Amino acid sequence: ADIAMYQAKEEGNAFRLYAPEMNIVVHEAMEMETDLRRALDRGELLLHYQPKIDLDSGKITGAEALVRWQHPVRGMIAPGMFIPLAEETGLILPIGEWVLENICLQIKSWQTQGFPLVPIAANLSARQFRNDELIATIQRILQDTGLPPHLLELELTESMIMRNVQTAAETMQELNALGVSLALDDFGTGYSSLNYLRRFPVDCLKIDRSFISDVADDPSAAAVATSIIAIAHSLGLQAVAEGVETEEQLEFLRQCACDSYQGYLYSAPLAVEEFTAMLRQESTR
Ligand code: C2E
Ligand code: CA
Ligand code: CA
Ligand code: CA
Repeated sequence: ADIAMYQAKEEGNAFRLYAPEMNIVVHEAMEMETDLRRALDRGELLLHYQPKIDLDSGKITGAEALVRWQHPVRGMIAPGMFIPLAEETGLILPIGEWVLENICLQIKSWQTQGFPLVPIAANLSARQFRNDELIATIQRILQDTGLPPHLLELELTESMIMRNVQTAAETMQELNALGVSLALDDFGTGYSSLNYLRRFPVDCLKIDRSFISDVADDPSAAAVATSIIAIAHSLGLQAVAEGVETEEQLEFLRQCACDSYQGYLYSAPLAVEEFTAMLRQESTR
């Protein structure tokens, strides 16, 4: 049986697809929940870092931290395989806290080693964003680690903030007051009202990979990407392109004056040692 089954269940068709093995699917999900619960204590979670590159200078201006699970039996598990389960069970709260803490400690460690510091972004889940303790948790982590807040960036999605606009706006104001910066992730895939966007204290729009991957062959994808960059700039926000894989896409983004980009073209997400080596190289350039 495969761990991908849990994903199938997420999509709501597992019981049809796997009817003869239904108990296996349920068993798999339960076993995974038990494993995930222990994963934190056992130190099986880790972060990879994907550099964010300035389009003009070609320099690293930041990175996004992406969680992975080094499972003792199943090997490296991508977040798409366990974040939905974590979200459903509430395990995302301790996991999300670990992610934030780990990022702050890592930045401190780079600081100690004398590297020029760049902001690191964490992905927040919907449940984390709605959690009453979010602000206090982040405040405590910043205090405990002594990290300058501007070095921490939080990525939110449109669907997270459009669910309850009033509450979301308040939470975002409080986060902004802490001094951390905010990015809207997967931008263009949800529905956000431009009117709300104006009132949210976000610093950056991240153009979803689906538009970037089609910019060369699909004029409507190119139009959406161009518009997002224009909206970002007219509101005084940064535009970041996700999932840049080709020189052609990069050239397109350069022509639209996009600010920065992430993607396999420059680098996949890297293990901390590899990303540190990249920072070291950058600092001696
Ligand atoms: P995301 O936030 O949209 O992250 C970008 C995903 O695109 C990452 O997948 C990254 O490895 C991948 N990617 C980057 N460049 C390219 C590219 O050029 N081409 C292609 N095809 N893919 C690229 P990953 O690491 O598997 O993460 C998947 C999703 O899991 C993330 O999507 C995010 O929603 C979630 N996630 C990751 N880490 C965390 C976390 O710490 N907390 C929460 N709540 N969610 C997380
Ligand atoms: Ca993200
Ligand atoms: Ca701000
Ligand atoms: Ca994204």
